[in-house]
Amino acid sequence: MRKKIVAGNWKMNTLPQEGVELAKGVVAGRGEVSNEVSFIVCPPFTHIAMVAEALKGSDIEFGAQNCAAEAKGAYTGEVAASMIAALGCKYVILGHSERRQYYGETSETLNKKMEQVYANGLTPIYCVGENLEEREAEKHFDVVKAQIEEVVYNLTEEQFKNLVIAYEPVWAIGTGKTATAEQAQEIHAYIRKVLAEKFGALAEETAILYGGSCKPANAAEIFAKEDVDGGLIGGAALKAADFLAIGKGF
Ligand code: PEP
Repeated sequence: MRKKIVAGNWKMNTLPQEGVELAKGVVAGRGEVSNEVSFIVCPPFTHIAMVAEALKGSDIEFGAQNCAAEAKGAYTGEVAASMIAALGCKYVILGHSERRQYYGETSETLNKKMEQVYANGLTPIYCVGENLEEREAEKHFDVVKAQIEEVVYNLTEEQFKNLVIAYEPVWAIGTGKTATAEQAQEIHAYIRKVLAEKFGALAEETAILYGGSCKPANAAEIFAKEDVDGGLIGGAALKAADFLAIGKGF
């Protein structure tokens, strides 16, 4: 049985105390959602320690939205995977389209980040997805294939067992446009096939999340699809009630 996951990417939103209130709201309502669903929140770095405190005693896990490609040293402004792990994080989002687009993250950088993430016992939530132009040119399969081959194919089997994938079509992120459940299933099944070409039956166990304007109103239809194992949620993760309601979509 694959894990069912609802992960919240808070991006650069909330002040620390607001983040704590949001985390508390998720904890307060968590009991209304089946414990077969795992919840993860990924606040900004500055709030992680405080959010960790607010989550104490609950089964809600937390992670970071990025990490440095190097282990430590003279890299002003960067945050190392070891620092994230020391705060109790279990996950790190890697390769989000905003990082690829605005900060020039390439597969080369992401390979280095992956190394740091695994060296520190963390699990990457590795994002893949095509932009609108690529979708319209029907290149979406090739785009996600390359994003997987250039990074995920470099993992060992042991590392691969500890990997979450998020398929996030860039044209659906923060735009209110969602992939249809059929579009999501089609590409999630394809991603699983590409993973299986390298890792065989282990790919059956990989959680592949959908991300892109996922909300309570559309989560159930998307999550009902065989190869969709949950969601990476941006905007709707900023309201505890919506985030939890998405978890009820399974
Ligand atoms: C995201 O950026 O990971 C995301 C899915 O954002 P939104 O839900 O706001 O589209």
